[in-house]
Amino acid sequence: MPPSLTPFVRDYEPIVGPEVIDELRVLADRVAGRRLQNINSTAVGGGVAEILTRMVPLLRDLGVDVSWDFIKGDEAFFNVTKAFHNALHGAPESITPEMFAIFEATTEANLSEVPLTGDVVLVHDPQPAGLVRARRGGGQRWVWRCHIDVSAPDPRVWDFLRPTVEQYDAAVFSMPDFAQQLRVPQYMVAPSIDPLSNKNRELEPGHVDETLAKYHIDPARPILTQISRFDRLKDPLGVIAAYRLVRKRQDCQLVLAGGAASDDPEGLEVLREVREQAADDPDIHVLLLPPFSDVEINALVRASTVVFQKSIKEGFGLTVAEAMWKRRPVIGGAVGGIKLQIIDGVTGYLVHSPEGAAHRAMQLLADPDSRRRLGDNGYEHVKQNFLLTRHVKDYLLLMVALDHLGEHIVRLS
Ligand code: UDP
Repeated sequence: MPPSLTPFVRDYEPIVGPEVIDELRVLADRVAGRRLQNINSTAVGGGVAEILTRMVPLLRDLGVDVSWDFIKGDEAFFNVTKAFHNALHGAPESITPEMFAIFEATTEANLSEVPLTGDVVLVHDPQPAGLVRARRGGGQRWVWRCHIDVSAPDPRVWDFLRPTVEQYDAAVFSMPDFAQQLRVPQYMVAPSIDPLSNKNRELEPGHVDETLAKYHIDPARPILTQISRFDRLKDPLGVIAAYRLVRKRQDCQLVLAGGAASDDPEGLEVLREVREQAADDPDIHVLLLPPFSDVEINALVRASTVVFQKSIKEGFGLTVAEAMWKRRPVIGGAVGGIKLQIIDGVTGYLVHSPEGAAHRAMQLLADPDSRRRLGDNGYEHVKQNFLLTRHVKDYLLLMVALDHLGEHIVRLS
């Protein structure tokens, strides 16, 4: 299959079947004439940008009027929003009054910069959330799309954010566990991966070997891999600890591959810590990948014997679905959206510690049948639940539902 720069809806038919495609066309017709505007804080890096990069052109091919805008912020703002992000995930953070002031000032600055032209304005995550104060009447709908696990948020940040969220018409969370006490309707939409993107498509023969050779990874020995931004909540040090336990019993290599996101200022510091921990072991490959390394990431995952996503907190964890789509067995932290994807012992393994991760990795390294079984089940689970076509359908249905907000019955035809 050739690289797919712009996805066309017809290309998905061989994967998901004609009924799914017909349904998308019907729904796209249903929202004709309404502009969907997405707003977030980065074009590159992290799951939100990953999804929008593929979803926006696919919606366009369906004839939906869709746009994607960004807010701007300086380093101080992104330090604040990263702290907010961690705190909303429930991680300990020092939160000061000055941080709220920085957040407010950047919101104000962006209010005069970002054109708010959508009929439906879909605002992703907390960074641009304050734009809602410029909402106009006349049927414009505002939806806050939260990609974070806010099931146990730091109350200082959530109490600050909640009045803003309640100015929206609706909020969307990735799974029911994240639902909040809010005065606005809440919808559940799971994220998705694009089976035709360079990150996930089948690769030409030779690509995997070339990538391994480029990074001096031995194709003849088992490879354990985690693909993630260098972020403490992704627990790269826990992955190294798990690998060291495995290495006491079984030969293997570890690949920790990640990049930087422009809205994540902590990355370089975490990368330094990871490199320090890994320095004495030539079988730990710490790879800082530039943006748009999708084909290489695809190849690294395909080359892996076992894939980790040992997050401590996780909104969804696209990397889990990405690995499952390649029929890799995945060991994931039992948190957030990873629990939606990994049915323990069926589509992967859920773990709570480096020891648990090591135990499962040793088991899988020793048993190719189990690896194959989990990989096959994971693939089917993703195909049924976490592909871009299902995600597009959910957003189109949401647009239809917003037209009828306040009515008791939503009719789809
Ligand atoms: N990713 C990437 N390059 C990297 C690290 C991650 O392209 O160096 C991708 C990864 O494949 C996935 C996305 O970035 O598609 C991360 O999404 P996820 O939901 O796993 O985590 P987030 O970064 O949003 O917390």
